[in-house]
Amino acid sequence: MAVIVQKYGGTSVADIEKIQNIAKRVIKTREAGNDVVVVLSAMAGETDRLIQMANSASEGTPEGREYDVLVSSGEQISVSLLSIVLNKMGHKAISLLGHQVKIHTNDAHSNAKIRKVDIELISDELKKGKIVVVAGFQGVDKEGNITTLGRGGSDTSAVAIAASLKADFCEIFTDVDGVYTTDPNLYSKARKIKKISYDEMLSLAGAGAKVLQHRSVELAKTYGVPVYVRSSFSEDSGTLVTKEDKDMEREVVSGVTYDRDQAKVTIGHVPDKPGIAARLFTPLSDNDINVDMIIQNASSEGYTDLTFTVSKKNIEKARRLLDTVAGEMGASMIDYDENISKISIVGVGMQTQSGVASKMFAALANEGINIMMISTSEIKISCVIEAKYTELAVRVLHDAFGLELEN
Ligand code: ADP
Ligand code: ASP
Ligand code: MG
Repeated sequence: MAVIVQKYGGTSVADIEKIQNIAKRVIKTREAGNDVVVVLSAMAGETDRLIQMANSASEGTPEGREYDVLVSSGEQISVSLLSIVLNKMGHKAISLLGHQVKIHTNDAHSNAKIRKVDIELISDELKKGKIVVVAGFQGVDKEGNITTLGRGGSDTSAVAIAASLKADFCEIFTDVDGVYTTDPNLYSKARKIKKISYDEMLSLAGAGAKVLQHRSVELAKTYGVPVYVRSSFSEDSGTLVTKEDKDMEREVVSGVTYDRDQAKVTIGHVPDKPGIAARLFTPLSDNDINVDMIIQNASSEGYTDLTFTVSKKNIEKARRLLDTVAGEMGASMIDYDENISKISIVGVGMQTQSGVASKMFAALANEGINIMMISTSEIKISCVIEAKYTELAVRVLHDAFGLELEN
């Protein structure tokens, strides 16, 4: 008997009818003789609604513990509904929350990391012949407080449970039928990738392809969990994310991603001397604010400009920290720009190929798209551009690198 973990995203559990539909798929998997653990997200739009409520109630940044108690509640609704429906359809099912399972995490509220998943309770319920329905996105810290795993965190719950149970595989059911060369909802010429390596998927997810949460791919790679990304609404076999093998596509560029969640901070005319960067960035890291791209201009007469990006959701917190530090350092100006997006091309094959960056810059230039910042790594090139050009940039880069063509 195989053990299968199936995760269904928000759009797949958006209403009772959709929940009844996925219940049929779960039952089919169970009746084929498998042990099934289902991991659910909140109903579509619910987590956004809860976050908005938390923000407006606190008139600023809500306190982490209470925020997590609130935003984790969406998953409590969906798991109970699916269990009710499964029981009604004549199958024994039990819903479990993160703290009941226990999914142990650290205490970084709203962005917690899973440390360990206890499998005893899930295994016991499976042995009793039940379908186990676990709330995604949530865990519990060592004090017993509810934590959440960051946006898209149910993917990570599912992979962590699959790894701990030594499940045969983990299926991620969503509203698209696999991983594509770019977001298929943004560009109809996007091509489905049938099989992709963990590393390639890590770079796509890290650069903004939100079809899988980055951390879920890290865990899948570490524990060797095969992950299938499939549609809840079709029987298509989807995309397999697995170890690299020789029949995998080895493109120079495997995908184009965009990230609209970035904001740009520019600090002008700061003294160019040792310790300045540390003074600016330490308060950010002390407050769990990740800095993504950083550019320091060439020094002129002992002064320099610094530009970097942070997630939009952290911009107010960053503003409160940086306005003071920048003032103390004698900076002439500080500017916050949320009207940007980050476009990346990603590919493991890029490391051995020259001319990729210049091709990317030329393609953007041809459309009159100005590049504000650039960052490169062996397998990724990212450019910050004005937000309004996001879609156009994705399309021209997808075309420039011939990604619509089957090789
Ligand atoms: P769920 O609610 O099921 O977790 P998400 O919205 O988190 O779904 O992720 C699915 C979405 O990811 C798709 O609807 C699609 O718009 C987006 N997406 C972005 N990049 C890609 C890509 N390269 N391949 C497939 N989907 C992508
Ligand atoms: N409901 C959470 C979110 O919207 C977790 C998830 O969907 O994976 O981010
Ligand atoms: Mg998701």
